[in-house]
Amino acid sequence: DALSNKIAAGEVVERPAAIVKELVENALDAGSTTILVELAEAGLQSIRVVDNGSGIESEDVETAFLRHATSKIQTDRDLFNIHTLGFRGEALPSIASVSHVLVRTSTGEGEGVELQLEGGHLKKRTAAPSRKGTELVISNLFYNTQARLKYLKTSHTEAGHVSDVMNRLAMSNPTVAFEYVHNEKQVLKTSGNGDIRQVMAQIYGRSVATKLVTFQESSLDYQVTGYVCRPEVNRSSRQYLSVYINGRYIRNYALAGAILQGYHTLLPIGRYPVAVVQIEMNPTLVDVNVHPAKMEVRLSKEAELGALLTSAIKKAFQQTQL
Ligand code: ADP
Ligand code: MG
Repeated sequence: DALSNKIAAGEVVERPAAIVKELVENALDAGSTTILVELAEAGLQSIRVVDNGSGIESEDVETAFLRHATSKIQTDRDLFNIHTLGFRGEALPSIASVSHVLVRTSTGEGEGVELQLEGGHLKKRTAAPSRKGTELVISNLFYNTQARLKYLKTSHTEAGHVSDVMNRLAMSNPTVAFEYVHNEKQVLKTSGNGDIRQVMAQIYGRSVATKLVTFQESSLDYQVTGYVCRPEVNRSSRQYLSVYINGRYIRNYALAGAILQGYHTLLPIGRYPVAVVQIEMNPTLVDVNVHPAKMEVRLSKEAELGALLTSAIKKAFQQTQL
């Protein structure tokens, strides 16, 4: 109902960056190859996401805005075997409950659908062009939750969080062409040609991209690949170390520690690497259902994975002339 949607909104969509993340993840789950994200005033004025994914069937569009209406898992068992970024069916109803939403979507076959919602209530349903994909426009964000609105920081801070989210998504999806525009200025544009180094160059600068060392290592349970920057390029924050499990950006102190250990004595104390680390594993070995934002994970064999990461990075540097 309306109240529980608003409560869930407090957990899932606490700020514009969280909304951008949910909407882009939906676009990725829908198989999009180009995703445009356009914000005005860090999303406080509007958030627009346009994708070229599968679109939503005409008769399913209203359902997508109801609570727990995910099309991605069918049984309880699926909860422990998750292959998509979304699975809770929580994002759209939560976002809709605290904003005005315009959605245009089409599967590319027949007419598309346009819905307008206010605070989760349907105001208008009309036909839309049959361009395959989905366009969502969120406006009047948090108009009915003044407390949330007050909690938000300056537009500058919120825009910074959105940039972080876009960067992480672009680095983990190099085969998707992203464009991110804020206040009519292009912030990020990737080609979608699959080369992570090019995406890292866009984000961190050319000088970083020329100093990357690749690594690849696998065990029975895990496969780890990625790029680490040579140790002389380092930063004073862990922020530049991006770790993904099955394509999902995660934060895990133990795994970050294992990666740093791979640098051994190469990094000065208090300095951190610029790196993208991709971990692939059987989804049953990782529980992403810890928190609604799905950033924290629980791993069944954390020590084994840590050891693999440390050795992969050590080897990469041993094979490179530093
Ligand atoms: P979840 O992603 O957890 O399934 P959401 O609330 O984020 O839940 O989305 C609800 C449903 O709406 C999805 O399961 C999907 O079927 C549909 N949907 C949302 N966004 C898109 C999109 N961009 N393209 C296609 N389908 C979408
Ligand atoms: Mg989702």
